[in-house]
Amino acid sequence: MSEMDSSGIENRPGTSDHNEAPNPPGGPSRPRIVIIGAGFGGVETARALKGAPADVLLIDRNNYHCFQPLLYQVASAALSPADIAWPVRGVLSGQANLTVLMADVTGVDTAARRVLLGAGSVPYDHLVLATGATHSYFGHDEWARVAPGLKKIEDATRIRREILIAFERAELCDSAEERRHFLTFVIIGGGPTGVELAGSIAEVARHALPNDFRRVDPRTARILLVEAGPRVLPTMPPALSDYARERLESMGVDVLTNVRVTSCDGDGVDTEPNGRILSETIIWAAGVRASPAAGWIGADADRAGRIRVTPDLSVPGLPDVFAIGDTALFEQDGKPVPGIAPAAKQMGHYVGRLLKARVTGTQPPAPFRYSHAGDLATIGRNAAVVKLGRLELKGFPGWLFWSVVHVYFLIGARNRLSVAFHWLWNYVTRQRGARLITGDDHEA
Ligand SMILES: Cc1cc2nc3c(=O)[nH]c(=O)nc-3n(C[C@H](O)[C@H](O)[C@H](O)COP(=O)(O)OP(=O)(O)OC[C@H]3O[C@@H](n4cnc5c(N)ncnc54)[C@H](O)[C@@H]3O)c2cc1C
Repeated sequence: MSEMDSSGIENRPGTSDHNEAPNPPGGPSRPRIVIIGAGFGGVETARALKGAPADVLLIDRNNYHCFQPLLYQVASAALSPADIAWPVRGVLSGQANLTVLMADVTGVDTAARRVLLGAGSVPYDHLVLATGATHSYFGHDEWARVAPGLKKIEDATRIRREILIAFERAELCDSAEERRHFLTFVIIGGGPTGVELAGSIAEVARHALPNDFRRVDPRTARILLVEAGPRVLPTMPPALSDYARERLESMGVDVLTNVRVTSCDGDGVDTEPNGRILSETIIWAAGVRASPAAGWIGADADRAGRIRVTPDLSVPGLPDVFAIGDTALFEQDGKPVPGIAPAAKQMGHYVGRLLKARVTGTQPPAPFRYSHAGDLATIGRNAAVVKLGRLELKGFPGWLFWSVVHVYFLIGARNRLSVAFHWLWNYVTRQRGARLITGDDHEA
């Protein structure tokens, strides 16, 4: 037997978890909408449901919403975690019909219409899966131990720690060979995250650290960006990819294209055709796969685990279950909608509107259509690439545009001001204020 509390959260016998009752629901007859994931998609769904006559429950395993596009700045000590993350409860506190629950979802019982939380479960009438994506090591999950990816705040602080510890270790070395080992950084994957990380680590090594070390010269650090394809930023026009490559090289990054990593271990990577590269610090920016949500509901998914959705973003055969953002596969004009923040936000906004129409009995919106605004990536100081329709920007104008857009899309005035201030400070002084080595894993 299991018990159900007034919130509808059912606790399994012998467990005390999830006793925290959400805000009192508006009434027993109100539809229950459960959103799993407080990322870009989930938060946008919740916002679009403001004022809807429904009880909305937003569940996330973290108590914060993370602005992933700036994670690399935490990893490279330009910003602190609190600059790019916000408590979810605070973000949505003004929404009376919404309750936030911090819990790890372990599955969904679609027959019983319940979301499983490990120790308990919650009922739903309508369910939105917005659980995002994680790293894909292309069948080599063991590489995760030595080549962390960048997806969460914890990943960013781990990478920051590993980068800074490498310089500390190099300072202690007497042998030039050992020092070279510590000061070689390999970034695998030449997409936007790889390019941004490589550029940012180069700036740390060349500009932020040199005055702080006595025995080692951080400027001698080798930063290698390894890309299996023929060019970096493959989704950008070739001229912008070429520009990114030139800029990275001018900053001291070795860009290796058409080079495939065949194995990773604690001492370095094996590549084809370039052979072994010895390195203490390896960072994975090569692939992502969707969250396990498709498995929870037995849905049809592509090789990356993305749930195939219908034109209204519901799951085929489950009209009350929706999948959005990185965990969904929505094809438009024969191509999948990209796994980027604007796509997740547009999908979230659409499903929120659709559900609002359902619960109010009004006309549902026309089928979902994604509108692509453009692609941007930054390389370093005064260097970014931007493609907006037919407009292409690079260099300082691109960098200024990139900076303004990212500050604009941050949540809340405090974070906007804080990030703008830190960027201005970093720009003028070339310093990185968040150069803290924290966490238990000092052996990393
Ligand atoms: C390093 C990096 C850089 C990026 N740069 C850009 C960029 O410059 N521009 C751009 O447009 N896009 C960028 N992206 C992609 C963009 O961040 C994603 O497309 C976007 O976050 C997808 O939104 P989402 O809502 O689908 O998932 P997410 O934002 O990932 O949110 C998923 C949420 O679900 C929660 N969750 C997952 N599983 C569970 C569970 N079992 N139980 C409870 N909660 C769960 C997570 O905690 C998370 O809060 C970047 C991504 C990364 C990782």
